[in-house]
Amino acid sequence: MAKPVIMSVDDDPEVLGAIERDLRRHFRSDYRILAVNSGPQALETTRQLKGRDAAVALFLVDERMPQMTGTQFLTEARKLYPDARKVLLTAYADTEAAITGINTVGLNHYLMKPWDPPEQHLYPVLDDLLADWAAAFRAPFDGIRIAGSRWSPRCYEIKDFLSRTQTPYRWIDLDSDPATRELVETITPGLKRLPVVFFPDGTTLAAPTSRELAQRIGLQTEARQPFYDVIVVGGGPSGLAAAVYGASEGLRTILIELDATGGQAGTSAQIENYLGFPSGIAGADLARRATVQARRFGAEVVTPRCVSAIRVEDPYRVVALDDGSELRCYALLLATGMIVRRLDVPGADALTGAGVYYGAAVSEAAAHRDSAVAVVGGANSAGQAALLLARYASKVTMLVRGESLNASMSAYLVDRIEATGNIEVRTHCTVAGVGGSDRLEAIELLQTDTEARSTLPATAMFVFIGSAPLSDMVAGLVERDELGFVVTGPDLMRDGKRPQGWTLERDPFLLETSVPGIFASGDVRFGSTKRVASAVGEGSAAVGMIHKYLETV
Ligand SMILES: Cc1cc2nc3c(=O)[nH]c(=O)nc-3n(C[C@H](O)[C@H](O)[C@H](O)COP(=O)(O)OP(=O)(O)OC[C@H]3O[C@@H](n4cnc5c(N)ncnc54)[C@H](O)[C@@H]3O)c2cc1C
Repeated sequence: MAKPVIMSVDDDPEVLGAIERDLRRHFRSDYRILAVNSGPQALETTRQLKGRDAAVALFLVDERMPQMTGTQFLTEARKLYPDARKVLLTAYADTEAAITGINTVGLNHYLMKPWDPPEQHLYPVLDDLLADWAAAFRAPFDGIRIAGSRWSPRCYEIKDFLSRTQTPYRWIDLDSDPATRELVETITPGLKRLPVVFFPDGTTLAAPTSRELAQRIGLQTEARQPFYDVIVVGGGPSGLAAAVYGASEGLRTILIELDATGGQAGTSAQIENYLGFPSGIAGADLARRATVQARRFGAEVVTPRCVSAIRVEDPYRVVALDDGSELRCYALLLATGMIVRRLDVPGADALTGAGVYYGAAVSEAAAHRDSAVAVVGGANSAGQAALLLARYASKVTMLVRGESLNASMSAYLVDRIEATGNIEVRTHCTVAGVGGSDRLEAIELLQTDTEARSTLPATAMFVFIGSAPLSDMVAGLVERDELGFVVTGPDLMRDGKRPQGWTLERDPFLLETSVPGIFASGDVRFGSTKRVASAVGEGSAAVGMIHKYLETV
């Protein structure tokens, strides 16, 4: 960790040189000494230090400076560093100013010039002040910091993206940190563009897109070549498995993911039924390991980028990305999975990201410590989320449409929920609406068995009400069922006949779609088992079929 700073400010070069020399001699081993020759310059330096989250222990400032007096500087500096000790350097005639300083900026000491010998007049005073400061000092966090409002949807998205890419960050709520708020005001006046992201090198981004953020944290956001043997669309368990097997077997492989890798599984607090992890594994952890593994074998993992359309120009499959650029390949795997369905009730859209969350929102769980929250849904994913939230929230209410959890949830989760004192399960219960001005405050409930209506106060509601496949980018190109699931292999055969437009002298492979060379695996595929293990199995099996297909191109 960088040493805390002692900053001295004086417009007289001779005095500044002398104080700098004396400070260095005594404090150099524990503190970084900064000498600045004007108030405005010192304020700029102080802002930069705050931007880097550097610690400032003490300001030693001359009162009589032409552009800005010492007291004026300290008035501003203490907004950024309220705990730093403040010492004013005064001539005898400035005693009045020093007394004003004590009253207006909470001056800790005023020091008469000259301070010789420093062993007698300077060091004992500063040692004392610095010991006080150090006793209360907490070392700053050395990584990315995000400053914003807890109830802002964009702040939530950025936090979620970072936590899903397992990028460590510290969250700063501007409502409870006036010093950082002061700094953020200088970056985005009126706090118009939040959040502000502070990087350890002192640079900042205001309201960045996920792509800008990804570039800054070192993720690959662009393909390195125009052509690949295989393009995998979607970075959930199925796509990641395909990338690992494809690249490890020597295919030029690229995976394109629109958000963070991990897919639905990446949002799971704890996956307990995946082979080889007897005490479970956090979804984000599984995603990180698989992503590292795919890269280690040479697969390119490009994120966050959206595949907006796919077309065929034989023998190539052409993928259009969100910025209009295109990539080509011989074989393409659709592993685009599913997305949690949106709740269609009054108020829900306006409060999404401000108390209404879709999926597990692992990044939000700790923010609801000692609050009352709700989980909507009765399947395994809702059960996992309820158990995670119960570690923080004072009360978790599960709102379940059916008559019990047993019908829709694995027994091991039902047992744990029953054994958790602060989880209440309300059955026959649906959400009729949500309320709150700029954040969720209450949920309107409807008991479907009695038609009774009631209001449940809650700071957050996590929604798990089923999912829909993500396959619009191949609408009209490959065969899908009425819900949008992509049909493959034997399911394409009708009365022993191959699908319409199929020209090859063979049947579609097991995971091949109605267009040769375009494969589908995992949750997006019609008839798939919606589980991590089966998505992984299909992703790896698809690579075997892609090999066979490539032999013919
Ligand atoms: C909260 C939760 C908990 C779960 N817990 C368990 C569990 O404990 N055990 C278990 O076996 N299963 C569990 N599941 C189910 C399991 O996670 C899924 O079956 C599995 O993730 C499916 O994998 P997939 O790769 O097919 O699809 P997904 O995981 O849905 O991944 C698809 C990916 O494709 C991306 N994508 C979509 N469209 C595009 C596009 N146009 N361009 C680029 N990328 C795109 C998406 O962003 C996504 O990352 C859980 C699911 C949820 C939601």
